[in-house]
Amino acid sequence: MESDEAVALWERTRDRLAPLLDQVVDGDLAGLEPVAGAGPAEPPPPTLYAILEKVAAVSSDSLLAGADEFARTWSPVGILPPDQYMALVVQLTHGCRFNACTFCAFYRDTPFSATDGDGLREHLTRIDSFLGEGIGLRRSIFLGDANALVLPTEDLLPLLDIVAAHYRGTPPWSGGMHTFLDGFSGAKKEPDEYRRLRERGLRRICIGMESGHDPLLRWLNKPGTVDDVITTVTAMKVAGLEVSLVILLGAGGREYSDGHIRDTIDVLGELPLDSKDMVYFSRHVEMPGAVYGVIARQEGITALDDTGMAEQQRIIASALRPSQVGGPRQGSYDIREFTY
Ligand code: SF4
Repeated sequence: MESDEAVALWERTRDRLAPLLDQVVDGDLAGLEPVAGAGPAEPPPPTLYAILEKVAAVSSDSLLAGADEFARTWSPVGILPPDQYMALVVQLTHGCRFNACTFCAFYRDTPFSATDGDGLREHLTRIDSFLGEGIGLRRSIFLGDANALVLPTEDLLPLLDIVAAHYRGTPPWSGGMHTFLDGFSGAKKEPDEYRRLRERGLRRICIGMESGHDPLLRWLNKPGTVDDVITTVTAMKVAGLEVSLVILLGAGGREYSDGHIRDTIDVLGELPLDSKDMVYFSRHVEMPGAVYGVIARQEGITALDDTGMAEQQRIIASALRPSQVGGPRQGSYDIREFTY
């Protein structure tokens, strides 16, 4: 969004806040009663009133200054797993080292780079300054961006130590550290390396598996193979880590659908997943800047509609062991819902 659009939007929002504040003062804001635990004659709850008053006092200039400060603190945060939308993002790396999957444009404009110890300390100082007391709302730490785990373990360990020393004992530390692993474009790690990362506070790794069907992974230009997924997830589970896997519904359209469903079911059944793990189903969304749509049209791929993707999810999900008997939990992942 351009700055003049943002300012206009903010001014419209502030205009609507004024009557809301009056309603809080008058004690007749619908829905407030159960929170306030008091009748309309009681004074408004100080926290809600104080928050609204503070929000209403934000000027357009300070809003734009905040946007600049945000951009100095984080490079664009492309996406997080749904269970991490409220995480504190700490960027050990920027962008995606692979950056070539046809369906993905999250990091097209962010060249891949990694931070060092000094850069990380400076990043943490900026995060603390930007979030202030709001840091207390964060319940976990997400190590960005798309594939921080491509760094060699010996480089990662001291970085994790810096993050741990900075946040141990604070609310974000309570949920542990989380991260993505891309489609295996980096050096592979042994179980012992994952164990050392877990001992430093890493709790869960989210893998964009997309499919268990190798021809489809190749068609999507996803790095790595199904065997890489099996070896890596097994190593992570041996090390005591929790795993989330993302399945891309509709990938490859009707032409790849049978293989996608069949092989994804097979691979998920082969993985040592338990009830701490998660399988996310993400419907394919054509992203601006991604070449997927161009290639699909050139090759005559027939896109699946929402019903077709829901059917893929139903079939794959029904083949998973239910979490009540030790299988992985399941969830939906709509990338359009994400903002940081
Ligand atoms: S590895 Fe992940 S982040 Fe990188 S291009 Fe592929 S899907 Fe996008």
